[in-house]
Amino acid sequence: METPLNIIPIRKWFKQLSNKPVIISGPCSAETEKQLIETAKAINDIGKVQIFRAGIWKPRTRPVNFEGVGEKGLLWLKKAKEQTGLLTTVEVATPKHIEKCLKFGVDILWIGARTTSNPFSINELTQVLKGVDIPVMIKNPINPDINLWVGAIERFNKIGINKLAAIHRGFFPFELTSLRNIPKWEIPIELKRNFHNLSIICDPSHIAGKRKYINEISQKALDLDMDGLMIESHISPDKALTDSKQQITPKELKLMLDSLVIRTSNSDNFDFINSIEKYRDQIDSIDTQLIELLAQRMEIVKQIGVYKKNNDVTILQLSRWEKIINSRINFGLKLGLSEKLIKKIMQLIHKESIQKQNEIMNN
Ligand code: PEP
Ligand code: MN
Repeated sequence: METPLNIIPIRKWFKQLSNKPVIISGPCSAETEKQLIETAKAINDIGKVQIFRAGIWKPRTRPVNFEGVGEKGLLWLKKAKEQTGLLTTVEVATPKHIEKCLKFGVDILWIGARTTSNPFSINELTQVLKGVDIPVMIKNPINPDINLWVGAIERFNKIGINKLAAIHRGFFPFELTSLRNIPKWEIPIELKRNFHNLSIICDPSHIAGKRKYINEISQKALDLDMDGLMIESHISPDKALTDSKQQITPKELKLMLDSLVIRTSNSDNFDFINSIEKYRDQIDSIDTQLIELLAQRMEIVKQIGVYKKNNDVTILQLSRWEKIINSRINFGLKLGLSEKLIKKIMQLIHKESIQKQNEIMNN
């Protein structure tokens, strides 16, 4: 994971992509020539989109669903490109898909979430890309496993693809949630920390699953300094053959893009730098104290563990744990912290404490 890869950031792939954020938009699926070209033109008229996306082969959970128009869609996409000047990108999942995309002059390939989850598929795709200079964007795997994502990036890089970007489209939710896929933001942030040159694009459409959340998620992604957005747009979303609930019209896309606040990640303003440094010093000091306190707590936990062992007392006493969690939540609430946060932190600490006492018991 720490190997520095010679990755080229998205802003250097094509001259049209030199400004941040890069905006990718287009329908979930190409459906007809008319739909594709009309959508491309309307999206191009916004003046803020650089890359046109369209699914040509669709990975569907059940075979009864629309599985894409196939190769003829690439011809429509080529026409859309000729008529608008937009760059194009298509999801590829098999070596055949790649061959067809290369034949029809698709500018950028993207790997879907289901494919990233399967190292065998990734290996097969890399085989046909040896010696080819084409950018590849890799969506996160369905499960929140950063190593699968890293693995796919490494596999493409190993065969010589260095125009690589990651697309964060959220992770399968195991709990009931209002979003279609959970954005575990810490995972793309960790990815960026490991590969500084790797551009991260957020796909708010697949995270949201519903139109109404797309704006908020896009703004959040930009505030987290992500390099671009991939947003699904369709001329008549309600009639779309795939992902109809999350697609927006080009008109809505324009309104949304106009409403986004684009902040810079660094400011040259002296006062800003000065005050942010001061705050960061405070945060550093508080974090150090938090960790010291945690270490002290763990020491006491260990001593209790020894005591329990010597007196043949079980590690877990449910009533004590209930008292702890309730009192900490109440205290947190008084200080303006959410129940969810305190609960999560206390559960983590408790889990670690039990593990430490377990080690003592079994020693
Ligand atoms: C898509 O972009 O339409 C798609 C199928 O996405 P994902 O691979 O993220 O599910
Ligand atoms: Mn889709």
